[in-house]
Amino acid sequence: MSTLQAAAGVEKRHAVFFPFPAQGHVKPALQLAKLLHRCHGFQVTFVHTEHNRRRLLRSRGPGALAGVPGFRFAAVPDGLPESDADAAQDMSALLSTTEALAPHFRSLVSGLPSPVSCVVSDIEHILYAAKDMGLQCVTFWITSACSFMMYQLCQRLVDMGIVPLREAGQLRNGCMDSTVLDWVPGMPKGICLKDFPDFVLTADPDDAMLKVALRSMACHRTTPSAVIFHTFDEIDREAIATMSTFLPKIYAVGPLPLLLGQASGTGGVGDTLESNLSRENHACLEWLNGRRPNSVVYVSFGSIATLTSEQLVELAWGLANSKQDFLWVMRDDQVNNGGDPAAVLPPEFLEETKARRYVTRWCPQEAVLQHEATGAFLTHCGWNSVLESVCAGVPMLCWPFGADQYTNARYACSEWRVGLEIGGDVKRDEVEAAIREVMGEGEKGKEIRRMLNEWKEKAIVAAQPSGSSWVNLEKVVNEVLTVPPAKGDTEI
Ligand code: UDP
Repeated sequence: MSTLQAAAGVEKRHAVFFPFPAQGHVKPALQLAKLLHRCHGFQVTFVHTEHNRRRLLRSRGPGALAGVPGFRFAAVPDGLPESDADAAQDMSALLSTTEALAPHFRSLVSGLPSPVSCVVSDIEHILYAAKDMGLQCVTFWITSACSFMMYQLCQRLVDMGIVPLREAGQLRNGCMDSTVLDWVPGMPKGICLKDFPDFVLTADPDDAMLKVALRSMACHRTTPSAVIFHTFDEIDREAIATMSTFLPKIYAVGPLPLLLGQASGTGGVGDTLESNLSRENHACLEWLNGRRPNSVVYVSFGSIATLTSEQLVELAWGLANSKQDFLWVMRDDQVNNGGDPAAVLPPEFLEETKARRYVTRWCPQEAVLQHEATGAFLTHCGWNSVLESVCAGVPMLCWPFGADQYTNARYACSEWRVGLEIGGDVKRDEVEAAIREVMGEGEKGKEIRRMLNEWKEKAIVAAQPSGSSWVNLEKVVNEVLTVPPAKGDTEI
């Protein structure tokens, strides 16, 4: 069926999207929802938490959640104390309260004006509830398949007695740093414990985050009918092949921004549906317009990662000493002591860089990366950022801070070879040297740009109408999302 036929003629396709309520989850989930609505004729109900609903109304104005025909927004409480701060919520608190979302989800679904045909979520309790209600449900996992694989292997680390670690502090600076786990299936040679998500790197057997991670991974193995990844086959081939032996059906459907680009012009509504929880500053694009091609270092650590004051100062001096222009996203909650990040910056740094810096709280990142002036991206390696950088062909300086970012950084630098890793106890000289390497004519920088061109091309091909991601999206629609769940398959 062509996309237009689908959009015009298909009835009774009603998907409820309920992403984990953090920026990096909401954004790709909305992109996927828009594709199902625009190209596959789905009605969509997209669920936010009340906290995020308020943030979106503040950042995008009172009409932000009005929806469009066939696409509505809904909101439920998240069970945390109410806050109107424009800041990331505490991740461990959010993760530990997801159970509280399930009853709200059930009553929301029961009260919707049209029957629901499928539920798309990355929250285990929503998947359990959907399955229990007899609804078709799929996981949409918003990170790379290789990092999901690492999460899946955490149970094995526990079974092998590697986790919990023998002592706290063993992590990253201690002996575990270089412990090579060469038994890891589907993983490249030389993978170390430090490349795993940091949730598992605990010495405490009762660690709450470890328990959440193990429980959640078991759920995604057994509960949904399929797992959709925001990646593309070629970049994550080995992890996908390995996981297909123990996960439900897998479909890689990214990079979604490129698929959405393909879908524009198909007459769909919904271009106005956006998901930025913070107000974007578009004036930085004007600033970029005045810069030479490939001359600016773009710096952002996504929506959650925080730095110590010392790290912020080392980074600032690294940028200053590199002598490059830079555009720096500095959120109000960027420093982990809760202080004002701008107040941490030394006056000498401000004086030294006043003609070549632009600092802002939040920018339109995809447009910044696509801008010809942007020459490198100093990133925490959140998966959206990595994919957006690959799509734009911008070399990365990888400084991971948590969760899947360590795995993404490892793959970006050692496997896909599109970035240089910095990290941990980063010093200004290291930042400066890495910037000079990727911005200059050094051999490593050249090799990174060459590899980026290759991966960018592969991403573009995957997103074309005959490409793997486009085809996989059609497959998951026809094989899963429009098919009732198998009978007798509703037990938890
Ligand atoms: N982002 C943005 N403006 C900014 C910083 C980030 O629009 O100033 C977007 C970015 O394009 C990405 C998302 O926020 O899509 C961050 O997701 P990612 O997975 O990279 O990191 P997370 O925030 O989940 O740690």
